Order: sequence, then structure tokens, then C-alpha cells
Amino acid sequence: MIWYPYEQMKTMQEPYHIVDAKGVWLYTEQGRMIDSVSSWWSVIHGYKHPALTEAIVRQARQFSHVMLGGLTHEPVRRLSEKLEQWLPGDLNYCFFSDSGSVAVEVALKMALQYYVNRKETKRTKILSLTHAYHGDTFKTMEAGDDADYHFILEAYGEKQDVIHIPTEIAALEDAFARYHSSLNCMIVEPLLQGAGGMRMYDVAFLKRARQLCDAYDVLLIFDEVATGFGRTGNRFVADLVLPDILVLGKALTGGYIGHAVTVANQKVYAGFYSDEADRALMHGPTFMGNALACSAALASIDLFETEGYMDKIAKIAEITRREMADFSDPRIGEVRMMGGCVCVEVKDAETLRGYQQFARERGVFARPFLKYLYAMVPYIIREEELVCVLDCMKDWFRR
Ligand SMILES: *Cc1c(COP(=O)(O)O)cnc(C)c1O
Repeated sequence: MIWYPYEQMKTMQEPYHIVDAKGVWLYTEQGRMIDSVSSWWSVIHGYKHPALTEAIVRQARQFSHVMLGGLTHEPVRRLSEKLEQWLPGDLNYCFFSDSGSVAVEVALKMALQYYVNRKETKRTKILSLTHAYHGDTFKTMEAGDDADYHFILEAYGEKQDVIHIPTEIAALEDAFARYHSSLNCMIVEPLLQGAGGMRMYDVAFLKRARQLCDAYDVLLIFDEVATGFGRTGNRFVADLVLPDILVLGKALTGGYIGHAVTVANQKVYAGFYSDEADRALMHGPTFMGNALACSAALASIDLFETEGYMDKIAKIAEITRREMADFSDPRIGEVRMMGGCVCVEVKDAETLRGYQQFARERGVFARPFLKYLYAMVPYIIREEELVCVLDCMKDWFRR
């Protein structure tokens, strides 16, 4: 018996049974539908891309996995070199793990231990955003701020070590003034908060956060598990404002195999580099640096670089703006767009009840949550396919 994610098993709808997938299309026995959410925002090149399939198959013929404890191999070495060269600034030190949540855990652990290694043991607090989502493991739930995902945490009572602020510069300055000496890090989903409701904010907030982190010697962590690889219309938001630690996941492997990476800069790495054994980072996911995942990631990055993906994303943004211009409905609170993401926030979640089935009948797979109807399409989508996804959203309100 499968226990499905985020579902009340007693009342959940039967999931669609997928028998094949190619490009933007998911196939069931009854027909096909466009995946408008890219399998939780990860499948940026679409399904069954020959380059990715080939990279995985080629590596599988060598070996699929060896652990990184005492062993290393070509795909993980090449991927870390590629990221070192490809990512901005001195984000050069790659710690791999099997999922985004674990990679965020590693980032938070790095930030805490960075100060413990310096004997600054009072810096136990994390500054985070309201509506933040950083994963479903315990510390990432704590850093997150969404009762819809994390109500279980109430069992522990008040959060001790996490302070949440809205994406407003005044609140940011106030938090630093009050808490700077007890903060080890500030963690954000930069520019676009995904699971918290596709909330978008201005880069000025991040620039100010960078200044304050520098002024008070606090580490800045960007959780780009969702925003990385072009989703905001920037390759990485880290290209605009440089964090101390960058977390990538979801689209890292083109969505073909679960994998993630926590990338530290020189300063963070130096905080662990020592003759003393107890300053080492004591972490090691069994499947970190999995050879199939690293091979998929290398092929994915290669496609991203050589096939004009930033132009593809700009085109998606342009078509979305054109198609959503002048679209409004009294039941809608706001329509938000950024890069390869569009979100229609309704005033009452009831308004979206039945949407998934409606979309299914029109050949679109969608998965609205709470008050948010959104699309994050694979970047290889064709214009008429994207228009079909957007028409479906608009037509729901025109019935
Ligand atoms: C999805 C997500 C995570 C968690 O990644 P998993 O691979 O599901 O563990 C963390 N942070 C952000 C911003 C995400 O969108």
C-alpha cells in the first residue's frame, strides 16, 4: 500500500496512473496531459530527453553508485568542478545529498557549526521569512513558516531558535538590530517563495540582507532548490546577490533522479578546514554524489548552457505576460508572474475546488494548493502548449 504525500488517505482522490511520459506530456491509459507543474518544478527539460536518458544509461553500465566515504569517482568530481566554475563568486565547495530537505539541513548545520568552531556558541538563532518553505525534515520545518505543512511542530510549543520576518526592509533592519549577536544565519528562498504561495519580492530586500549579514558577520543562505536553474528568469538569484551558502535541488538533475547540493564559499569552508578533527563537518548521506544523479546533472547543465535556456525562459515569461494581460475576476486576489512561474491567488480556496479534474479534461495536469493556482512548466514547452495551460487557467473563471 502506497502512502501518498500531503494527503488524507481516507478521502484523497485516486491519483492519475502514468504509463509513459515524453516532452511536456504525461500519458495515462485514457489519454495525455501537459505537466504544468514539471513534477514539482524539477523536470525542466521535459520527460524522456535523450541526452539525459543516455547519460544515465551510460553511467549505469559502469556503476550506478559507490559511496563517497573513502571513495570517489569521475561523475562527482566532474560535477563539482562544473559547479565550481559555473556558479558565481567563490561558491566552490560542494556537499552533495539526496534531497533538497537534507541539503538545507546541511546548510543550517554548516552555519551553526561555523560559529561553534570559532567558539561563538551563543549564535544559535536563524533568521527566516514568513511563509518560508525549506523542506519537510524537522529543522527545515522549523526554519519554515507554514502551518499548512508544519502544524505538527506545535507539539514542541514556541519556536526557540527561529525568527520570522516579512520581506520588508524595515522588518529586516529591525531584526538585525535586535538579534544580530545571536544569529548564525539568515536563510531565504530568494525572490520567489514557492510552497508558501508563489510569493514574489524585490531584489532590494536581498541586497540589504547581504549588507546587514556582512556588517554583523551573519551567514546568508540562499535556498534555491526551487528558484535555481532559471525559474525566476535569472540563472540563479545568486547571480544578483551572492550568498555564503547556496542550496540547489529539484532541477539539478533535470528532475530525473533525486539529488541536491549545498555549496559553500571560501569563508565557510575555511571555518572547517583545520588540523583539529572535531572541526570537520559530521554529515554523510548514504547516497551523496550518486553516480547516476551526477551524470544526469552534468547532462542537464550541458543542455541548459548550450541550448539557450535563458532565452526559452524569457520567451515563457513573455508569452505568459501577453496571455495574462487584462485577465481578472472578482474572485482573484492577485495574479503574479516571474520568469517561468505564474500564480493566480484566489480569495477563497473553495474557488479552486474541482480545478484539477477540469484541467484534466482539457489535457492539462495541474495541482493547485490552498489558494494558489499556478504553472511552472518545463522550459522546452512549445508556445501553443503554454497557451493551452494558460487558457485552461483563465477558462476556469469564465465558466
Ligand atoms: C522542494 C523544496 C525543498 C525540499 O526539497 P526535497 O527534495 O523535497 O526535500 C526545500 N526548499 C525549497 C525552496 C523547496 O522548494
